[in-house]
Amino acid sequence: MRLGRFQLNHISDGSIRLDGGAVFGIVPRVLWERKLRPDDRNRVRLGLNCLLIRTPHEAILVDTGAGRKYSPKEQDIYGVGGEPDVVARLARLGMEPGDVDLVINTHLHFDHCGGNTRREGAAVAPNFPNATYIVAREDYLTATGRNERTAVSYRSENWAPLQESNQLRLVEGEQEIVPGVSLVHTPGHTPGHHSVKVRSGGETVFFLGDLCATTAHVPLPWIMGYDLFPLTTLETRKRIYARAAAEKWLLLFDHDPDVVAGVMSRQEGRYVVEPVPWED
Ligand SMILES: [Zn+2]
Repeated sequence: MRLGRFQLNHISDGSIRLDGGAVFGIVPRVLWERKLRPDDRNRVRLGLNCLLIRTPHEAILVDTGAGRKYSPKEQDIYGVGGEPDVVARLARLGMEPGDVDLVINTHLHFDHCGGNTRREGAAVAPNFPNATYIVAREDYLTATGRNERTAVSYRSENWAPLQESNQLRLVEGEQEIVPGVSLVHTPGHTPGHHSVKVRSGGETVFFLGDLCATTAHVPLPWIMGYDLFPLTTLETRKRIYARAAAEKWLLLFDHDPDVVAGVMSRQEGRYVVEPVPWED
């Protein structure tokens, strides 16, 4: 997809299966199962949708999916690993891992930064050898200060090798990474969670991250059980949704298994999303 002077591509890392109850938080199954059908182990299949932004000067990858560093037991639990990964998808566009200049992680949950690194024999190495990886310092502090409840989501193998190779750049707060590509602080899922705003030619594309993971999660109280501060998510959603609807941003859904993009509007007091076909 073309956006002003940018070329945007949806890059999939495949899919992951997570417990439907956890994915939909306080929403009862009788409501959510109509939107995403659970399998016989109560898991719903979620996409691992990443975004490639090519400016005239650099290639930027937003999130890297779950990656492939899983034991057979983890592969069974999460249903990961059976599909082409981000590197294979980039290759279909004629790109080598070394062509990626910047990687932005919306946050450090394993399903967003697992593809930062890969297994190389007994070691773990950066997946993108020439890239600078951008992570919000606040999110890094949550990840490295993980506790009994959050530990399962954070794996240091996804960022520690980048520190060793001097490729990790911790940034403070909202900022423009390159002209037209900005980090927007969208706290709640994690305190340091950032969405990515891409603006060119008068149009805005907004990669939500886990602020709103699928089109099924658009209603304000449909917040994932994984969110560390769900009431903060609610406030962030109100602020972002209002602007997204008013300015007709093209919203990208990082975990929707079917819908990559959509435009939000407010109808009879509720926010709804109209899917927009995405053509790479
Ligand atoms: Zn996620």
